[in-house]
Amino acid sequence: MEIREYKIRTMADLMQLDDDQIDRFCEELPIMVRQMKAVVQLMNACGEAIGADLDVAKVGETMVWIDDGKRDTTITLTERPEAERQDMRCDSCGGVYTPKPGFAQCPDCGA
Ligand SMILES: [Zn+2]
Repeated sequence: MEIREYKIRTMADLMQLDDDQIDRFCEELPIMVRQMKAVVQLMNACGEAIGADLDVAKVGETMVWIDDGKRDTTITLTERPEAERQDMRCDSCGGVYTPKPGFAQCPDCGA
């Protein structure tokens, strides 16, 4: 059987699956959702512990379902592309900087 990958964002994405695939997807869905939830909770806890603002908003926006019948899940976390980061202006010293993921302090004055 050919193994295929599906990016699932919306119901419309689900409708590209055939009936057997819908059944298999629905069997795996609870595992995928629980794991994503656990990862977000863990990241939020880590962010709080180190006092960093981890941007976890995008986790769970898209899932890739691999129709291989293995029922395992993989969660891949990637940095936001440089182009999507917005420059910040420091309220204290007025310096402009590009925030690094997890560390939003001004590199000039540390505010
Ligand atoms: Zn500053």
